[in-house]
Amino acid sequence: MAETVTSAAGAPTESGSSDHVIQVEDLHVHFHTQLGTVRALNGVSFSIPRGKVLGVVGESGCGKSITGLSIMQLVPHPGKILSGRIYFREKAGDRPVDLLTYDRHSPEMHHIRGKNISMIFQEPMTSLNPCYTVGNQIAEAILLHQTPNRNEAKEQAIEILRRVGMPNPERIYNTYPHQLSGGMRQRAMIAMALSCTPVLLIADEPTTALDVTTEAQILDLMRELQAEIGMSIMFVTHNLGVVAQMCDEVAVMYLGRVVERASVDEIFYDPKHPYTQALLRSIPRLGTNRKEHLEVIKGSIPDPYSTLPGCPFHPRCPSFMPGTCDRIVPEETIIAGTVAHSVRCHLYPGSTFVPPSTTESANGAAVS
Ligand code: SF4
Repeated sequence: MAETVTSAAGAPTESGSSDHVIQVEDLHVHFHTQLGTVRALNGVSFSIPRGKVLGVVGESGCGKSITGLSIMQLVPHPGKILSGRIYFREKAGDRPVDLLTYDRHSPEMHHIRGKNISMIFQEPMTSLNPCYTVGNQIAEAILLHQTPNRNEAKEQAIEILRRVGMPNPERIYNTYPHQLSGGMRQRAMIAMALSCTPVLLIADEPTTALDVTTEAQILDLMRELQAEIGMSIMFVTHNLGVVAQMCDEVAVMYLGRVVERASVDEIFYDPKHPYTQALLRSIPRLGTNRKEHLEVIKGSIPDPYSTLPGCPFHPRCPSFMPGTCDRIVPEETIIAGTVAHSVRCHLYPGSTFVPPSTTESANGAAVS
């Protein structure tokens, strides 16, 4: 067993603190399909401090994108937010509002979505409307949230295109998405997301479809604009190199749960959870012997319909403890001596026993 744990039992609830833009608490999202129920999120909790960048990492299918879509209340059918709280604070010191108390089509949600919280989607070609010019789509958001004057909206749209580094923004305003390169389409998406200077930007793998040169330009641009506008960013990615470059804090997700949260330095230099450690070991490094095999995380993510008891990572974990890890769901514990480093793992004492009759499955189902 490893060192160090002060307090146990549950996520630190921070709904009282005033410097967090968003606080997600115990969020559960399920998809009921003909084949069964996919428990996409199983009690996700995290918060994002004002003006900071939180990286959300994990393998495909761990719930990163669904977490972002839940904040926007855009979970696609047949997904349903079953329970949890998503507190949002527009300004420091404001009383937080729980976004889940609003209907997804309510005027309140329409006001928050796009104006206060924006999202950059992974693939701009499928997110931009091919029937409207880029300028038209950016101006639409400005007309909705900033000004009813069409000329002013056009001027603001051209200005934001200029700020995201578009050459000749007056011409780009009148072009259609298919006339732009991948990098320029991504810049157009960023321009649209930033057009109303949001308090929180959710960037869902915004550079995955780009070549490395364009990726570096887009990341630089986002950092610059973030410093200029002072917004917070939730940066969803599976690329740990991008996390090191962009983020202040990191939440590592596995099968619909946050399994470790810490500052970016602690995640890279002192990771606690075996999954985080394995993720870091599997990054290719310069200068390694070409004959050495790259380390991989053994096995794969379980079938999303399966009902695996105990810790969701136990079939793949090198530190697996029979009788404990395969029976008891680890609670979130805080690592001693750190400001905010939490982990869900039985190697760090403090986990509570869940009786076998109600043992939770890897994807959240109660197993009798
Ligand atoms: Fe591994 Fe057990 Fe920790 Fe899960 S709880 S990560 S199986 S040591």
